[in-house]
Order: sequence, then structure tokens, then C-alpha cells
Amino acid sequence: MYILVRMFFNVFFFLFCIFKNFNLTLRSIMDEKNIPIRTYQVCNVMEPNQNNWLRTHWIRRGPAQRIYIEIKFTLRDCNSLPGVIGTCKETFNLYYLESDSDNERYAHESRFAKIDTVAADESFTQVDIGDRIMKLNTEVRDVGVLSCTGFYLAFQDVGACIALVSVHVFYKKCPLAVRNLAQFPDTVTGADTSSLVEVRGSCVNHSEEQEVPKMYCGADGEWLVPIGNCLCNPGYEERNEQCQVCKVGYYRSLSSDGGCRKCPLHSYSIEEGATSCDCDKGYYRSETDPAAMPCTRPPSAPHNLISNVNETSVLLEWSAPLSSGGRQDLTYNVVCKQCVRDTQRCMPCGDDVRYSPQRLSLRSTRVSVHQLQAHTNYTFQIWAVNGVSKHSPSLEQAVSVTLTTNQDITRDTLSLFWDEPDKPNGVILEYEVKYYEKNERSYRIVKTTSRSTDIKDLTPLTSYVFHVRARTAAGYGEFSAPFEFSTNTGEFAAPVVGGVMSSAVLLLLVAGCVVVLLLILIITFIITKRIYVDPFTYEDPNQAIREFAKEINTSCIKIEKVIGIGEFGEVCSGRLKLPGKREICVAIKTLKAGFTEQQRLDFLSEASVIGQFDHPNIIHLEGVVTKCKPVMIITEYMENSSLDMFLRKNDGRFTVIQLVGILRGIASGMKYLSDMSYVHRDLAARNILVNSNLVCKVSDFGMSRVLEDEPEGAYTTRGGKIPIRWTAPEAITYRKFTSASDVWSYGIVMWEVMSYGERPYWDMSNQDVIKAIEEGYRLPPPMECPLALHQLMLECWMRERADRPKFSQIINMLDKLIRNPATLKRTAGDTSSAPSLGSVDEWLKIIGLEQYRENFSTAGFCSLESVLPMSHEDLAKMGISCSAHQRKILSSVQELLSGMHHRQDTKVPV
Ligand code: AMP
Repeated sequence: MYILVRMFFNVFFFLFCIFKNFNLTLRSIMDEKNIPIRTYQVCNVMEPNQNNWLRTHWIRRGPAQRIYIEIKFTLRDCNSLPGVIGTCKETFNLYYLESDSDNERYAHESRFAKIDTVAADESFTQVDIGDRIMKLNTEVRDVGVLSCTGFYLAFQDVGACIALVSVHVFYKKCPLAVRNLAQFPDTVTGADTSSLVEVRGSCVNHSEEQEVPKMYCGADGEWLVPIGNCLCNPGYEERNEQCQVCKVGYYRSLSSDGGCRKCPLHSYSIEEGATSCDCDKGYYRSETDPAAMPCTRPPSAPHNLISNVNETSVLLEWSAPLSSGGRQDLTYNVVCKQCVRDTQRCMPCGDDVRYSPQRLSLRSTRVSVHQLQAHTNYTFQIWAVNGVSKHSPSLEQAVSVTLTTNQDITRDTLSLFWDEPDKPNGVILEYEVKYYEKNERSYRIVKTTSRSTDIKDLTPLTSYVFHVRARTAAGYGEFSAPFEFSTNTGEFAAPVVGGVMSSAVLLLLVAGCVVVLLLILIITFIITKRIYVDPFTYEDPNQAIREFAKEINTSCIKIEKVIGIGEFGEVCSGRLKLPGKREICVAIKTLKAGFTEQQRLDFLSEASVIGQFDHPNIIHLEGVVTKCKPVMIITEYMENSSLDMFLRKNDGRFTVIQLVGILRGIASGMKYLSDMSYVHRDLAARNILVNSNLVCKVSDFGMSRVLEDEPEGAYTTRGGKIPIRWTAPEAITYRKFTSASDVWSYGIVMWEVMSYGERPYWDMSNQDVIKAIEEGYRLPPPMECPLALHQLMLECWMRERADRPKFSQIINMLDKLIRNPATLKRTAGDTSSAPSLGSVDEWLKIIGLEQYRENFSTAGFCSLESVLPMSHEDLAKMGISCSAHQRKILSSVQELLSGMHHRQDTKVPV
């Protein structure tokens, strides 16, 4: 969108004031809608040498650098006026004069600068224009780079029958816009039609800059290439290009988060704009918990703690707590206390006690404790803890066991000691010890009034489980958690280590060495022959982009001009200054806003392809911008843009050696690609870029482009698009794309180069091209093309792809031709090679214009002699309107003539 700023809306009555000749008159007439309007008219068509001027008041320029003038007018068709031939005109001239104030009111017209000659699109033929309904012409002209504070406009009539109806003078602005949460002010466009005005945006309310927001105001008043962005502050979210506050019950904690989110489970927010939610009572959040995580609780205690004493070691095992508190970070800590028997005094166990695997932050539900002292009472507590335990430490998280170590009775006797229950419900009358062999159901009971007993007649080497309960006047209490003990043999068994290395192991080692050697050999081979890797074979194509393309910081890039429109967005030129490197010119391909993830990957795939190449005839990738918008691909800048346009612009300006140099460069790039096993599929002059030193580089490696977005692409019967004129028959028919099909396309590029950008097969339809090729037809040599080069083209177009030369052979052949320029002298245009002055058909074939055979025969030109006196008009009359072809035909005719006069062999200067 752009806006027009009206500098002056004229009603003629007020605007114009000065006449050079007073032949212009102010009259009232009716417009198209039959509404009366005032016009300035002049119609001195009978008198010669008219020079009538009408000029405006001084118009203040304001901020405009380029002004637009829209003129509405009517104009009489001179043919409708009898007897005016020679004096009547159908145009008028538009002029301007700059000045800093209204002091040039009487300036001589010679001081005015011409903007343009204006002609009508529609002239009318009525005899009397006075009261008639008429057709209005609207023409817009513009003029730029104004420096004074104002200007005058002037209209010069040189003898037309004209009525000026209105003049609107305006300039263009890019309107106030918000992109990526940055606001860009109304900006007046630049002076130049291609200039871009760089504008820095300011973040909208409640947002902060993530990367400097910038946009470019194009000459048409359109905003282009938004770069950088702002992000809503925490507590706000992006809605309708503004930052809106989060509602109660919602929060947004980081500016990089998406929108406001509902408070997670067990949390709430009671005010708008919350950056986090508070936890419900009894629920907590650890410092590292993300704001989106529900609030959680400490775990409940572990249970079923079992101890298994073995001399001075004990193995403790327990079951996980019933509630983990809603968290995943549950661990266990062991607390060991050493207690003095028969007293309540306990103290922490000494440092010599060892824990396996460790004492704190245990993930498993077992631990063995070693190096305990003999005949000592120990109490072990197992604490279940999680990330929020420290907010609510309570005994609910612990389970404990008390036991005594004893080394004396290991074979068949065990001494047990236990503590009094924490809160007995009365005086303890006695204790009951229940014990049984582990995995057995039958048990024995021992009763005692003290807090210890010796259990005798145990079986050696057997695990026993013991429970103790107390009895008060109220009856028996609960049994304690089980203790587990093993009786001993008194002997230790040491594990057997070591031995002799067996022959099988030796064999395995040798085989391993051989495999490693082979691997080294294969890797060395791969390193010496680099192969192209298709980025789409990566499971994550982003990985390919990271691997093959360097990420560039946008602060190093300066965009200057839009130079083209690519498939995915604008292509700009600009500068790149990487730290520690000199500034260079670059081309910047941008990905337009609103793309899908697939389009982003397709766009960037080109970078992951080019990034794998390093050759002077392949476009060089500088890097990519993927971390911020717009996504960009930065390549070296090729000043002369695409080869086809470049050749058309410079038709006939190069020597044959220069053209062969161009072809050699392209062949060298293609050899590199085929050595890398890369098949281009879309080799054509339009996909070759040319730099200021005339170096040609193969470009256009877009993956999707080859089949879907190629401008020359036509759908084949098998679906998908193929650039028919450039493609080998086997690739068109059964999609056999190989380096040999690239060689075919290379032959077509040779033809394009030698014909200075002529369209292969001219205006034949794609279907006709396919048919002609099938029937054996091949493009003839372009005008002045050395026969040796045409011969090479024909080899590239061999039906059997195995018969076509390889790129390395093409390079050798071109090198030979460059070394022996004499071989390039014989051209198809040589009269010596023409089949005597006789057949027009043969002659047309030789000069590469055989599509005109019918035009010549229909016009009655049957022999070559008959074409000799031909002129441009003759050709136009025969329907040969293309001026380039006319030139070719006539220059060949000239050669024929000079051949007849001088009997020279070679006419073409090389
Ligand atoms: P593409 O999307 O590659 O077809 O590019 C579109 C247009 O941008 C091309 O036709 C060229 O005119 C221009 N262009 C692309 N890359 C470059 C470059 N490296 N240097 C100069 N112009 C380029």
C-alpha cells in the first residue's frame, strides 16, 4: 500500500496564470458524466509554428523528492480536421522550473527543463468540442531529485487541438505501518525510481527490541524487506499488531514466549499483566521450574524399608513413596545415626562409614552401608526428597530403621537390639520378636521384657527376617518394619580374576584391526572424492543448513537496492562486512513474510546446496540469515546479472574468443558439479550469472524450482515441470536426469551464447520441439558461429547419452580451439561453405533462420540471386518483423554481395 500526498489540487481557474501567447482560453464544457467543468483550450491547428505556454503558480515542494503530475486532457485527432496536414500536432510538452521562492514568475520559457512530450491514448474526432461529451485522457509523469523549495510546471502547445481539464501534483509516501511489532512512520519515497529509503522502526508500547527493526520504503510507496523485530514484554502478548495485557488467571513470563497462557495447575494470578502465577497453599515451585509447570509438593515418605545386616555392613532397601508430589526429580538421602545402647543419645555416624553407590541424591531404592562398628546401635533414615522439599521439610518424607551390628554370632546366633516405640500408648509390658527364613512362611516367636534378645539355632548362610512389636495394657501394637540379617560361614570367597588370553580373543583382535584399516581406506577415498549431499536426505533439513551454510548476523548486512524478484521474495543488492574481513558487494535473496515451514526449507535448501560447492565458476555462498526475519541467502554479487539478458544487451559486441571464454567457464563449473555427482537439471543461459569481469558462474540451485517454478518449465505427461527446450529427450520422456543430460543442456547454452541470447527453437511450440528432436532435427549454427563450435553442439545433442562428450572432454576441445584461433575462422556464414549462389532454403539454414523458409517462398524468392537486392521494407512486407532477424538477413545478404564482388573466402572478422 502506498499513499499519495496531494501537493496541489488544481482547479484551473486558480492554478494557471501566465500565458506566453494568449491563444489559450478558459472555457466551460461538460465532462464524461455530463458535469460542467472548466478547461483551458487551444486549437491553432491551421497556423504553423505554434508555441503557446501555460504555467502554474509556484508550488512548494515540501518533503517530496520525486513529484508526480497527473494530467487529464482531451485531444483532437488531426485526421479528423481537414486541411491541417503539416501544421496539426497530437502532442504537447510538459516542463518544470525549480526555484526557492515565487520570484521566477516571469522566467523565460527557455529556463524550463522538459519532463516529457505527452501524447493522448484516446483522441476524439468530433468536429466541435465546445458542448460535447468527450473522452478524457489521463497521463502521469514524474520528475525526481528536486533540490529547491518549490517549482513551477508549464505546458507547451506546438499546434495541437487540446483541452486541459485538470492537473494533480502529488508525491508518494510509504504509510505508517507496524511490522513485527515495530512502528514505521510515514516516509516520503526517495528521489530515484529504484532507490530504497532505509527506515528504523520503534517498538510499539509494552514491547522491547529483539533485533533492530528496519524496513525499506520503495519508490512506489510500498514497504519492502522488513528486518529485525520487537517482542512484547512479559505480562503482555501480541494481538492485532499491539502488545495487549494478559488477563487475570493468565501469565506470560518471557518476551520470547508465545501468547499469554492459563496459569498451570495449582497456581493462580489475581492481577492483569502477570509474569508468573503464584502457587496454591501447600504447593511450591523450585527456582529452576519453568513458569509453565504446575506447582508441586514434596513427596510422601518411602515405605517398606528392609535392612539386611551382614557383619559390619547393611543393605537397605525400600519402596518408592506413594506420592511423588507431582514431580520427576525424586531422590533419596540416607541419614545415619550412631546411638549409645540403652540411652536415647544418638550422634551422626562418623566419616569412616561408606555408602554404595552414595549417601545423597540416590536415584535407586537401595543402598549398602559399609564399615560400621561392631556391637553398635545404628538408626538409618531414608528421606525421599524432590525439588520443592526444601520449602516444606517434614518428617513425612522419611522412613527409619534401627539395628545393631554383631560380629560374634554369625553362624547360628544373632543378638537383636531395638528402640522403644516413639509414642507408646502405655507402659510396655513385653516385646514379641517374630522371625522367619526369608522366602519361608513358617515363623517363630520369642518374647522378652528387655529391648534385646539373642536368637539361637539359626541355620548358617541363611537370610532371616525379624519383626518386633510391643505389648502394653491396651494390647499389641504394630510390628516394626522388617529387619533382614544373614548368618555367616566365617569364610570369604575371593573372586577369581585374570587368566590367559584365548586364541579366539586374539582372532577377534586381528579381525578388528582389519576392519579399522578398511574403514580408514574408505574414509580416505571419500575425503579425496567429495560427493554432493542432498539436503533433503537429512531427517532434519535444518541440520543440513547448519552444516553447509554459515549463519550471518544481520548487523553485518546493508541492503541497498531491489534488483530482481525471485521465486520466494525480493532479490536485493547490498554490502556485507564480516568482522576482520573487507566489505564486499553481495546479492541478498529474501524470503517473503507469511511463508510456511516447508517454503522456508525449500528456500534455504538452495543455500545448503551452494554451500557445498567451492569453484570459481559456481556462485559462491557467503552465508544465510535464519535466526531472524526475513530469512536471507547471501551470495556474491554478479554485476551483470543473468547471461541471457547480458548477451541480448550486448548483441554482436564480443569476439569469438571472448564467447568461447564464456563457454569454457561454464563448462568448467559444470565439470566440477558432475565430479561432485550433482546433476543441475536446469542449465540454461538464464541461470548463469555474469560478474563485472565477464566471469560466468552457474547458479539457480533451488530444489523445488527445477520442477515446479522454472519459468520455462512445461508439464510433461509424467507430471512435474521441465524446461523442454534445454532438456535432453531421455529426461523429458522418462526423467533420466544425469550429467549427460546436463551436457545436452550445455549444448543449448552454447547455442544461446553464440546467438547472443536468441531463444532456442525460436517461437516453435514445446510440442513441436519435442517432435522435431525426435525426428533428428538439431538447431543450426547461429550466425557467424564457427563450425567447430556447432560441431561440438551437435555432439552434445547425440541421441544416445553415452555418445555425448563428458564435461572434461568439452573443456579439452574448447582449450584446443582457444589455442588455435584459426580453427574458429570457418563459420557457417562463409559464402565459401554456402552451396553456390542457389538455394534460399540452404542459405536460411546456414544463417540459422530457416523458420522463414515459407515467408521467402510465398513471396516468390526462389534463388539466392533474387534475394540480393532486398531491403528492410521487403522483409517487413514478407512478415519478418523481428528487427534482429532483419539485420541478420540483410548483413548476410551484404556478405553474399561482397563475396560475389571480391571472391574472398572468409568474411567474418574474428
Ligand atoms: P533467482 O531467484 O535466483 O532466479 O534470482 C532472481 C533474479 O535476481 C535473477 O534473475 C538475477 O537477475 C538476480 N540475481 C540473483 N542472484 C544474483 C546475484 N548473485 N548477483 C546479481 N543478481 C542476482
